Amino acid sequence: MKEFIETTTKSILNKYKEVDSWFQCRYSFNPYRGCQHGCSYCDGRSKKYWPKGGNETFDSKIEIKINAAELLAKKLPTIKEKEVICVGGGVTDVYQPAEHKYGITRKCLQVILNKGFPCHILTKSDLVLRDLDLLKKLSAKNFCAVTFSFSTTDDKLSNVLEHGATRPSRRLAAMNELNKQGIITGACLMPVVPFITDSDELLDKSILDLSNNGANYVMHSPMTLCDDQEKFFMEFLAENFSENLQDLKEKYKYLYRYGYSPDKDYTKRLGERVRALLRNHGMREKMPKFRPKTQDEMQMSLV
Ligand code: SF4
Repeated sequence: MKEFIETTTKSILNKYKEVDSWFQCRYSFNPYRGCQHGCSYCDGRSKKYWPKGGNETFDSKIEIKINAAELLAKKLPTIKEKEVICVGGGVTDVYQPAEHKYGITRKCLQVILNKGFPCHILTKSDLVLRDLDLLKKLSAKNFCAVTFSFSTTDDKLSNVLEHGATRPSRRLAAMNELNKQGIITGACLMPVVPFITDSDELLDKSILDLSNNGANYVMHSPMTLCDDQEKFFMEFLAENFSENLQDLKEKYKYLYRYGYSPDKDYTKRLGERVRALLRNHGMREKMPKFRPKTQDEMQMSLV
């Protein structure tokens, strides 16, 4: 049973100290707090995002920032240069089921369009297709990229690891459709879950599926295991991987022996494997950088 808590927030835009190396933006916002998708590996559960507690209801009690669009409309004009606004920062999904009811993300996209800003959307849901009309206008006027997030493209495994999210086959279909409609599309293979989604067979399948369905870039990184995120993931393993639980626990203990990231050798090898697959498919690792459209380009895209 999901509970929605309607709140009015005092601030909406997060400003990073430096440009985010993945998403190449300095500003992001989250219209919701918590995520109904409830993926087993989500680092949105870690304490750094919940300094006052409350993360135990991360996927069941969703905070709805009902004044998000209004605040965004006030805040955007104070930014001097038209920089990319990242819609969703990875600790909530802007197209989780609550969006069906509240439409806060859609209202915010309308504000971004009205104020003339470029944007990047990160999601694990095909509900983004509902907003195709706005995405097209954002692309024509400025810049709009949509990145779909995957831990794997295997539907069966996804049903276990990220039961509450849209299945990968539907995400792939949505990415394909947006790509055909001229929207910049790509993927985050994040997180790759060690010992579960990192086999050669599954990585091959994921990159092939992404390549065949409109991903122009694939960012990638392995799972972190941080305080309450780790606690939740270990409980999840006990419930869903009981047959080889002891083996998995020992492997994770060793892999994460230096902290919340896997050891450097693992990360390096994984990166090399994914990069080799991307090269084979002629795909890049980074999303394209935003550059303002020239007058000619704007006219062309409006034809
Ligand atoms: S969709 Fe993203 S934000 Fe939501 S639970 Fe999954 S990983 Fe976390």
